[in-house]
Formats: sequence, C-alpha cells, structure tokens
Amino acid sequence: MSKYDYDVIIIGAGPSGIFTALEMIKSKSTKKIAIIEKGSSVNKRSCPKQKTNKCMNCKPYCHITTGFSGAGAFSDGKLSLSYEVGGELPNLIGADAAQELIDYTDKMYLEFGADTKIEGIGNPDKVKAIRKKAIKSGLKLVDCPIRHLGTEKAHTLYGAIEEFLHQNGVELILNTDCSDIIIEGETCTGVVIEEKTGKRILTAENIVIATGRKGADWLERVCREHNIAHRPGTVDIGVRVEVRNEIMEEVNEVLYESKLIGYPAPFKNKVRTFCQNPGGFVSQENYDNGLAVVNGHSYKGTKSHNTNLAILVSHNFTHPFNQPIAYAQKVGELTNMLANGQILVQRFGDILEGKRTWEKELNHSNVRPTIPDAVAGDITAAMPYRAMVNIINFIHAVDNVVPGFASPETLLYSPELKFYSNCVKLDHQLNTNIKGLFCLGDSSGWTRGLMMASVMGVLCGRRLK
Ligand SMILES: Cc1cc2nc3c(=O)[nH]c(=O)nc-3n(C[C@H](O)[C@H](O)[C@H](O)COP(=O)(O)OP(=O)(O)OC[C@H]3O[C@@H](n4cnc5c(N)ncnc54)[C@H](O)[C@@H]3O)c2cc1C
Repeated sequence: MSKYDYDVIIIGAGPSGIFTALEMIKSKSTKKIAIIEKGSSVNKRSCPKQKTNKCMNCKPYCHITTGFSGAGAFSDGKLSLSYEVGGELPNLIGADAAQELIDYTDKMYLEFGADTKIEGIGNPDKVKAIRKKAIKSGLKLVDCPIRHLGTEKAHTLYGAIEEFLHQNGVELILNTDCSDIIIEGETCTGVVIEEKTGKRILTAENIVIATGRKGADWLERVCREHNIAHRPGTVDIGVRVEVRNEIMEEVNEVLYESKLIGYPAPFKNKVRTFCQNPGGFVSQENYDNGLAVVNGHSYKGTKSHNTNLAILVSHNFTHPFNQPIAYAQKVGELTNMLANGQILVQRFGDILEGKRTWEKELNHSNVRPTIPDAVAGDITAAMPYRAMVNIINFIHAVDNVVPGFASPETLLYSPELKFYSNCVKLDHQLNTNIKGLFCLGDSSGWTRGLMMASVMGVLCGRRLK
C-alpha cells in the first residue's frame, strides 16, 4: 500500500489542471488523483453582475476567475490553434511538438462539444491585404486560427468535463483553499488545505501546481519560501480598447482576432493586441486582494454593437528591482483609487487633449460603454508615462491597418493587467528543481491562454500517467 493519500494532487481546476487529469484518464492510468479547487463546481458559478449590472465585489472570491475550469469558464472561450500564440511553452518543448499537442488537445475539446467551426481561415487574399497595411505601419500580423467556444458554451463544455472526471474517479475537493505545499528534504510530499475545522495535510507522490494567473502572487511566495527555482518574468500593463463593430468589421470578418505586434518609438518596447471580442462586452474581474481589473468577453448568442480588445505593453525588470507583480499591482491600485474601486474609462481624444473624460461626454459618441459601471475619468493620472506613450503610438500605428481605431471617441479602459510573472524553471519534462513537484499553466509563467494551458496539462498528464 502506498504511503501517500494520493498518487497525484493537482492544485487548481483550471484548464491546465483538468487536462492533466483528463490525459491521465485517457491513457488508462489507474493512479489516484485529487484536484483541490478554491472555488465551486462549474454549475454553481455565477456572477451577480448579470442581474445587478454592477460588480458586487464577491467575497471570499470572484466567480469569474475561481472555480472548476478556472478563468476558462466565464472566459470568451477562444482557443488559439497556433503555437505562435498563448505563451512561451514552444520555447521549452519546441514549436513542432507544441503544434502537435495543440492539434491533439483541440480534438479533446471537440469530443466535449466544442463548435466545429474555425474562425480566421478561408480568406487568404484579404489576410494578405491586411498584412500589407500592417507591414507599412511597422506592425507584425500573426495569423492564428481560432475555435470560439463562446462564454455560455464554454460553461457547458467544462461542465461536461467536470462530470467526466467525477465519473472516472477523480476526487474533486472543491471550495477548498490550498495554503501551502510540504517539502521534505528536496522532495515535495504534500499540500496543506484549509478546511472549516482547520488545516489538513494531504500527501501525494506528485504535486501539480496549476493555480493560474490569479495564484501568481501565492506562487511567488511559495517559490520564495521553498526555494523553487524561478526567475521574475514579464508583466503586461495596458488598456482595453472599445470601438464600434463598424470600425473593426474587416479584421473581425477575415481574422476574427487581429494579433498585431509592434515596437513603437521612442521606447521600442513590445506592444501587442490581445483577446479581441467582436460584438463583445467589456468586463470587470476582481482579485482576492481587492484589485479590480478590466477584461473582455463575447457570447455566441448575445452580441453588442462594439468590439473590444486589449493593448498590452510588456515590462521586464532587472536590477535592483525585480518584483513585476508588485509593480503592476501598484499601477492597478492607483487606477482603482481614482475610480472608487471600479474600472476607469477615458476617450482617446481626451487623452490626446490632456483632459479627463466626463460621464456626460460618453453619451456624445457612437460608441457606448458595454460595461455600465465604468467610471469616466483620467487614466493618464495613473498609467506610467512609458506605458502610456507606447499605447498612444501603437494605437496610431493600428489606425493605418484599421482606419478609425484612433478616433477621438475610442474608449480606453484601465487597468488591464496580465500577471504572468515568476517563470518557474522547468526542464522539457516539466520537472522543477524539487522532486515530485510540477508547475503548469499561467501560474508557471509558461502559458497565457486556454489552449496553451490545456496543452501543458496534457503534457503533464502524459508525464504522470
Ligand atoms: C474574462 C477572461 C477572458 C479570457 N478569455 C480568454 C480567451 O478567450 N482565450 C484564451 O485563450 N484565454 C482567455 N483567458 C485566459 C484563460 O482563461 C487562462 O489563460 C486560462 O484559464 C489559464 O488556465 P490555468 O489552468 O493556468 O489557470 P486558471 O484557469 O486561472 O485556473 C486556476 C485555478 O486555480 C484555482 N486556485 C488558485 N489558487 C488556488 C489555491 N491556492 N488553492 C486552490 N485553488 C486555487 C483558481 O480558483 C482557479 O480555478 C481569459 C481570462 C479571463 C479572466
């Protein structure tokens, strides 16, 4: 009999965690698997904002990012089907292996009911014309086929996966926070979970940390305290941009998502578009520490008149400061302070004129905010100079590809922050420097999206089967 409670304990039921378990089951593994998840079952997750039109700042956690299927359940559900999108994993395992795994994992999504339609293919001449404009404007266009689940379909699909795991003997320990891991010598042997009656220790031969972007600062502490080898990674600071669908019509139709990358003067930092939602809605998500950040999603059925997308500026730090998460949090806190804890919105024209936006001025425009409780104000009062200049110059460059993008009425929401930092050092078998400990998905710093996080889960499942 094993000296451990389980063979594998997975912390976090986001795509990376659940695809680890799925792949193990698919490989006919007989290992005893438990998944510990802070939030609830996918069917019990609901955001009150749909009824109240206002973020209720739910405690102890936000249902948008927490619960079975992680940030995936309420996400827009866009599966990026190219290895060029979704993080740095291809640098670890090679581009061809990453693409093969994406194709394999995509089939798993199809088995659980994903839409068979792929967006962003089928118009090569139109793509060429868009690329030509991008080149003229100093931008790189990355084509990426997309399978769009849609927010409501993603919910159903992940519900089916939850049921499948349950039926196949995976123990789902929901509504339970994992507060620490246990290291004996140089081996990870268990986790500490928080229960109503107090702390409890669960042991396993292998522990998989898959706590997502949300668990990034928890993992930073765990890495520091247990000497898990890592390096500070990149943090992205930016804005969410919202324009009328008419402005984005061409790229929406041809590409669904225009992935543009630039290095605008004078700083030449990497700036890129991310997470484009045609007919979508701008949304707010709250981190456990109270930070309110902006995001966006789109439904398959319900469409708005607007398209939103993020513009992100990558930040790296070296010496003497190397805490990118803390830096981005400060920017977010300052922005939240100006908006009384809500999301701040400003018109692009007002930014160029050096004035704040007033609530009544939002009604003068064609584009109306799809997030009703955003507060009109001045995002430049909290955005670092370097990031702001990068964003302004990038918007002007995109305007050459998408005429009207830099119009005075274009809405910029802040703070849009992506915490991918703390890149855990892994070998190509996903081993950390601690025996029996694995780290996956967005929390590992190696992925940044549903598909790549799922792929990393599949890879780990094969390793642990
Ligand atoms: C609104 C929104 C829209 C998005 N849209 C897209 C999209 O269209 N396409 C795309 O590719 N990506 C999208 N993303 C990003 C995508 O959801 C993530 O990249 C992906 O979910 C990462 O998977 P993961 O498994 O690494 O982590 P997560 O999905 O974040 O899951 C981590 C899980 O771990 C749990 N957890 C954390 N800490 C603990 C702990 N200490 N104890 C127990 N449990 C813990 C969390 O509750 C969470 O459920 C979106 C994200 C958001 C928030």
